Amino acid sequence: MKLILFGPPGSGKGTYASILEKKLGIPKVNTGDLLREIAKTETELGRKIAEYANKGELVPDDIVTDILKQRISRPDCIKGFILDGYPRTIPQAEALEKISSPDVVINLIVPQNVIIARLSGRLICPNCNEIYHKIFLKPKNDEICDKCGSKLIQREDDKPEVIKRRLSVYKKQSKPLIDYYKKKKPFGNVRCNKVDIPPEAVVERILKKLKDLGFLKD
Ligand SMILES: [Zn+2]
Repeated sequence: MKLILFGPPGSGKGTYASILEKKLGIPKVNTGDLLREIAKTETELGRKIAEYANKGELVPDDIVTDILKQRISRPDCIKGFILDGYPRTIPQAEALEKISSPDVVINLIVPQNVIIARLSGRLICPNCNEIYHKIFLKPKNDEICDKCGSKLIQREDDKPEVIKRRLSVYKKQSKPLIDYYKKKKPFGNVRCNKVDIPPEAVVERILKKLKDLGFLKD
């Protein structure tokens, strides 16, 4: 199954993608993580991407598309993948159709107050990008990454003023994409109206929606 997971920043999308990865046996592919990984490498492409990041510019579509294409042609994606953070624009969606047409789209709907409440507890590993939460997804040891042992941090992006701005940008950006996929693909909305829904419960809703859309058998 080739699944696209849409949701506003702070919807918990990355966490759900991690749980879904295990439940569905297909990898999550996050273009932001891929770019950050490559930017760390001593390659021509790595240097180029790091340069855009340092200037605060977006990496051009053709580079992102190319990186995505390489990633999803690896053997672990043979049964499908969970796309998180891509596509963000109609041209990217059109490029994706040419590389590997997605099967189904799940759109997470989360109110702004829930997002702000949730993000204030978010912690991220600066080394491997694993996401945790002070309440909902605690690391085994306080503020230390389970995977690599690095000290977890709170991102600048996760502060309320910044969140509100990001949400309004997301709304504007995602509207045409959501309209595009509603017309083209099996499409399901999944609502998360409360702060304290455990990630597993949201994942169950996503799985149920995928079943309703005919993508999973009991
Ligand atoms: Zn880590």
